[in-house]
Amino acid sequence: VEFNIVKFADEIVEEMQLISKKDQHIVYEHTGTDARVFLDPNLLKNCVFNLISNAIKYSGPNTLIEFSTKVFDNQLEIIVKDNGIGIPEEEQKNLFEPFFRAHNTGDIQGTGLGLNIARRYAALMNGHISCVSKLNEGTTFTLNFTF
Ligand code: ATP
Ligand code: MG
Repeated sequence: VEFNIVKFADEIVEEMQLISKKDQHIVYEHTGTDARVFLDPNLLKNCVFNLISNAIKYSGPNTLIEFSTKVFDNQLEIIVKDNGIGIPEEEQKNLFEPFFRAHNTGDIQGTGLGLNIARRYAALMNGHISCVSKLNEGTTFTLNFTF
């Protein structure tokens, strides 16, 4: 399905802003010449939802979550960046395994399935998820698709 990624993202931000109860601010920015993409909006929504809900869950109050989309050629890049607890370097390789939870999550609850699902959904659309994270500084997830 062809759809407008900016409209899609604006709706997600509106929903996610309600879920965030810690006065976190989600800022969204789009770059690129054309905002139309050809992907499955439901699968994509699930991926992005998982990434933003993690950013909310694993960041403290009054922090910024940066969400961006970029369309260029037939590619879409989506970035979700937080200033949260980060992921210990030695555990980052396990991030997408089912039921994996890092050791620094403390009493933050979760099943450890969100990222595994996000990666599967991205793969169904021939996409790729990657992560860069620094413990106690923050985490950036990037989704890349070619359509
Ligand atoms: P759920 O299934 O409810 O999403 P979860 O959030 O624990 O549970 P995942 O979303 O799969 O599971 O994430 C796996 C683990 O990766 C988390 O438990 C956490 O340790 C780490 N993690 C994921 N995203 C972040 C993030 N943005 N900042 C810090 N740690 C993260
Ligand atoms: Mg999660």
